[in-house]
Amino acid sequence: MNAAHPTTHVVRDLRKLCRFLGLKEPDISWSVEVNRRSLEDSRAFCEVHSNNRMVIHCSHGLARLPRKNRLGVLLHELGHVYGSIDEVEADTWVVTNCPEAGFKYIPRVSYLHPSLNRKVTARNVQSVADGFPLFLDART
Ligand SMILES: [Zn+2]
Repeated sequence: MNAAHPTTHVVRDLRKLCRFLGLKEPDISWSVEVNRRSLEDSRAFCEVHSNNRMVIHCSHGLARLPRKNRLGVLLHELGHVYGSIDEVEADTWVVTNCPEAGFKYIPRVSYLHPSLNRKVTARNVQSVADGFPLFLDART
């Protein structure tokens, strides 16, 4: 049996979020630049550029986050895509447009950094609540 590509679940999570919200799905780009930044900043998972908001540039660390944090980060990025480039306004977009998520920040989240090949801790990472339907729906 073939193992799934390690990042397939990230694409699938973004697709499910966009279907849930009735939004056109942005593209995911695995970014050398964000990966490089993540070596020094364990919280560097994604960025959206104002000149082309339909692309979410991601580090491979995103694939290693606990799923509720990955969904939270992706929701925040959708806040940039469909709301604003501004950080606070992106979160406001999430809370307004996806109240079901129970969107919040978690003080510390550890994950296995794919390039450093050791566990790192990121502070203040986005998350969805344990009761969010998409989080419970992890196997489909
Ligand atoms: Zn942001």
